[in-house]
Amino acid sequence: MIPAAFDYFRPTSVDEALALLEQYGGEAKLLAGGHSLIPLMKLRLAQPRYVIDLGRVRELEYVRESGDHVLIGAMTRHVTVETSELLERRCPLLVETASVIGDAQVRNMGTIGGSVAHADPAADYPAAILALEAELRVVSRQGERWIRAEDFFVDMLTTALQPGELLVEIKVPALQPRTGTAYVKVPQKASGFALCGVAAVLRVDENRRCQEVAVGITGVAPKAYRARAVEQMLRGQVLEPSLIAAASEKAAEGIDPLDDLHASAEYRAHLARVYCRRALERAVTRI
Ligand code: FAD
Repeated sequence: MIPAAFDYFRPTSVDEALALLEQYGGEAKLLAGGHSLIPLMKLRLAQPRYVIDLGRVRELEYVRESGDHVLIGAMTRHVTVETSELLERRCPLLVETASVIGDAQVRNMGTIGGSVAHADPAADYPAAILALEAELRVVSRQGERWIRAEDFFVDMLTTALQPGELLVEIKVPALQPRTGTAYVKVPQKASGFALCGVAAVLRVDENRRCQEVAVGITGVAPKAYRARAVEQMLRGQVLEPSLIAAASEKAAEGIDPLDDLHASAEYRAHLARVYCRRALERAVTRI
C-alpha cells in the first residue's frame, strides 16, 4: 500500500502548473483532492513519476455568478458546493448532488474538477453535469477551449482532456422560472459511490407542458449518459404521472449496463428505470 516513488511539485498558479505539465508530459499527474488518485497510486495502478499538487492554486477555488450562469472553479471542494448559498438559489441540483457524495471526509477533500476529470463511471457529478448541459473550460500552454459536458465524458475513466490540459472551470446555467431539478441515487453500501444515480432537469411552459427536459444517468454504464429516449417522450407533453412512468421505462434503452460484483447488468437497468421515475417525479414537485 505504499506508492512508487515520485517527485512532488506544489505550484501556486495555473501558469506554473501548466509549465510543469508541459515539462513532464505523460509522466506527470495532477493531484486535486487525492481521493481517487492516491488510492490508485497506493495500489500501484497509477505510478506517476511527477505529481503536481493543485492544492495551493487558490485561483481555482470559487463559485460565482456570471449573467445567466454560475461558474465553479475546478478545485472547489464538494463541501463548498454542498453549502454554497449561491448554488442553492441558482443551481440546487449541484447542491443536492454534492450532498450525497461519499461521507463528510470525502466531501471535505474531493473536488468537483477532480471528480469530473477522473470520470469514474459511479461518480455522482457526471449525471448532474450532463443534465445541466454544463460546459467545461480547459487550458493548456497552447490556449483554452470549452468542451460540452456531452463531449467531455468519452468512456470509463476517459475524458476529452488532452495531455497538457488542465480543467479550470465548470459553467452551469442558472435556474430558470418554472424549472424543477432533482438528483436521486442508490449508493454502494461501503463507499457511497452510485450503483445508479439520476439527475433530472424539467422546465414547463405556462400551460404546464414540458418545454425542456434533460436526464443524466450515472453508475449504470461505463460512462454517464443522457437518457434521450425518456426525454423525447416527455418533451411537449403535460407531465402526468402515467407518462413519467412510461417514459422512465426507457431509461436504459440502448445502454450496455455494467455487470460486476456490486450489481448485475439486469439490476442496474432496473434501478435506472425506477430511479429515473423518482427523479422526474421529484423534479415535477419542485417546479
Ligand atoms: P484526485 O483524486 O486528486 O484526481 C483524480 C484524477 O483527476 C487524477 O487523474 C488527476 O490527475 C485528475 N485531475 C484532478 N484535477 C484535475 C484538473 N483540474 N484538471 C485535469 N485533471 C485533473 N465520488 C462520488 O462521486 N460519489 C461517492 O459517493 C464517492 N464516494 C467516495 C468514497 C470514498 C471512500 C472515496 C475515497 C472516494 C469517493 N468518491 C466518491 C470520489 C471522490 O468524490 C473524489 O473526490 C473524486 O473522485 C476525485 O476528486 P479528487 O479531487 O479527489 O481528485
